[in-house]
Formats: sequence, C-alpha cells, structure tokens
Amino acid sequence: MKCKSYKGMTFRPYIENDRIQARVKELGEQISRDYEGKIPLFICVLNGATPFAMDLFRAADIDAEITFIRLKSYEGTGSTGTVKKVMGLCEDIKGRDVVLVEDIIDTGNTMVKLLADLKELEPASVRIATLLFKPEALQADVKADYVGFEIPKKFIIGYGLDIDGLARNLNDIYILDEK
Ligand code: IMP
Ligand code: MG
Repeated sequence: MKCKSYKGMTFRPYIENDRIQARVKELGEQISRDYEGKIPLFICVLNGATPFAMDLFRAADIDAEITFIRLKSYEGTGSTGTVKKVMGLCEDIKGRDVVLVEDIIDTGNTMVKLLADLKELEPASVRIATLLFKPEALQADVKADYVGFEIPKKFIIGYGLDIDGLARNLNDIYILDEK
C-alpha cells in the first residue's frame, strides 16, 4: 500500500480495510449477543462515523434500527473552547436501547457532551461503540463499551476520518508520518 499526501503532509498505511472488517465483524457479534431479544437503535454521529456505523449495523445479526445525528459547534465559550450540541435527531429515543456510534474518542470531550444531551431524552440504556480510541489523549471520564482499535496519540485519516473534509473515502486507515 502506498502513502497518501494531504496538505503537504504524508500519511502512511496503518490499518487495512481487511483488518477493519474483521474487527467490525467481532464487534457486531458481541453486540448481537448483548442485545439478544432487544431492538437497539444505532445512532451514527455524522460525518466521520458513517462507514463504521453502516458496517457495524450490517454486522449485527439481530433486529436493529439506525439513525443519524450531527453535532453543531458553537464558538467563543471561553476556556472550554468549542461546545457542541446534538442536532437532527428525529426519533423519540425515550425507553430505547441506544448504541452510540462514533469514529474516534480522542480527548473524550465530544462524547461527554453527547452523552449528556442524549441522556436528557431518557433512553433505557446507552452504550458507546467507537472504531478508534486514543487512551493517551483521554481527558474526560468516558468509557467505550465497544472499541475497534486502541491507537497512539497520533493523527489518523481514512474510513470516515478526515483532514479538513478530505480522506473520508479512503478504505484503509492512514497515520500521519512524523519522521
Ligand atoms: P474528542 O472530543 O477530542 O474526543 O474528539 C472528537 C472528534 O475529533 C472526533 O469525533 C473527530 O472528529 C476528531 N478527531 C480526533 N482525533 C482525530 C484524528 O486522529 N483524525 C481525525 N479526526 C480526529
Ligand atoms: Mg467525529
């Protein structure tokens, strides 16, 4: 596999699609066992989680539903930086078993805010599925229930993850080459 170049930076192959798919299959099997007899609602966080959410949803061998949310960013909130608010959720999630699907947990700040917003809507349960998790970057008190891969505190692109909107359509995951 060849390196990719964006914005004058070089990214080298890191996780091939075959490995992603194998891991997604395992997570799908785990979710199928955990939610047996239930009809979970997958909530995909746009845009980055889309490829992962669709693959995970199809890997779940149970009745399930999927919907999508977007995060709206507000700026200028002082020291906390950017605050994000959930938008676009049309379904009533009260009493539902929610599987929240994210592309990556970095500092964890986004996930904390998301969870708080969702819990106000009184779901029966919420579990978090994230394709990637950077343990060394974590600042917030969140724990994902389904983790695809733990990765170092490096910048990653591909399979939904972007650099200024680009690279989401790469089938494989690439890591910033810093040497
Ligand atoms: P957090 O709030 O710091 O956990 O980061 C949340 C968001 O930052 C993710 O949903 C991504 O959109 C973005 N992000 C974090 N790390 C990366 C990365 O390595 N590549 C691309 N986007 C990232
Ligand atoms: Mg994201």
